[in-house]
Amino acid sequence: MTPTTPKIPAPPIRRPMGAAIQVSVVVHVVALLLLLQWRFWPISLAMLVVNHLVLAVAGLWPRSTLLGPNHRHLSAHAAAAGQVALTIDDGPDPLITPQVLDLLDRFNCKATFFCIGERVTAHADIARDIARRGHHIENHTQHHSNGFSLLGPGGMRREILQAQASIAEVVGHRPQYFRAPAGLRNPFLEPVLCAAGLQLVSWTRRGFDTVASDPGLILARLTRNLRAGDILLLHDGHAARAPDGSAVILKVMPELLTAIARAGLTPVTLRGALPSPTAAALCARAQ
Ligand SMILES: [Zn+2]
Repeated sequence: MTPTTPKIPAPPIRRPMGAAIQVSVVVHVVALLLLLQWRFWPISLAMLVVNHLVLAVAGLWPRSTLLGPNHRHLSAHAAAAGQVALTIDDGPDPLITPQVLDLLDRFNCKATFFCIGERVTAHADIARDIARRGHHIENHTQHHSNGFSLLGPGGMRREILQAQASIAEVVGHRPQYFRAPAGLRNPFLEPVLCAAGLQLVSWTRRGFDTVASDPGLILARLTRNLRAGDILLLHDGHAARAPDGSAVILKVMPELLTAIARAGLTPVTLRGALPSPTAAALCARAQ
C-alpha cells in the first residue's frame, strides 16, 4: 500500500487593496491627526477634498486599477496560447442576441455575455440559449442604472446580488465576473464584489458601438494593435444602428471574427482565460 501524502491547504489569497484606497486610508489618518491641532483645519480639509477628487476620478476611469483589482487583459498563460476574449454587454436583446449567437456559431467562437439581470428574466429563453450554445453569462447589474457609480454600498450590493440571483435562476449557475455599467464605479464596489466572490473585468479595447454607427470605425478601434490576451467589448443591448438600420454589432462581428482568425488568435470565454475564481472565493471568506 502506498502511503498517502497529506494535502497541505493553499494559503489564503487576499485581493490587494487598490493603491488609491491605501493612500486614502493614510490621508484620512493624517487629516484627523492634524485636526487635533485646530489651526491646521484648512490643511486637513484640503487634503480630504483632494483625496476624494482623486477617488472620484479613479472611478470614472473604467480601466483603472487604483480602486482595486480590475482585469483588463487575459492571463499571461492565455496570451501565450494566442487567446483573445470577445465580451458582449447589455443583453439579452430579443432581436439582436439570437443573430449574434448565429454569427458566433458560424465562426465556431465562444463569447462572454455580461447580461443585465432584469433582461435575463424577461428573455429567459434567449439567456438559456446563450448558455446552451457554450457561452458564459456574467453579471452586469440588475438594472444597468446610469447612476450605478453614485450608489452607496447597500445599493451596489442590491444591484449585484439581485443580478446574481436572476441569472442563477434562469441559467442554473452564478456569475464569476462583474462589469460595471459603462465601467464607472466608486470605492464601495470592491468590498461588495469581494464578499460576493466576483471579480471585476473591464476591457483592453472597445468599439464605442452604443454611440458609433460606422461599422468600419468600430472595427478599426477593435483591431488596431489587436494582440493575444486582449479583451474586446461589443454590445448586443443598447446597440447603435448602422446606416441601413441594423444593429451595428451585426455588421462588425463577421469582419472582427475574420480578423481574429487571420491573426491566428483564438476567441475564448473569460472563464477559461482569467485567473481562477479561487482568489475571489478566499477573499469572500477573509472578510
Ligand atoms: Zn453596459
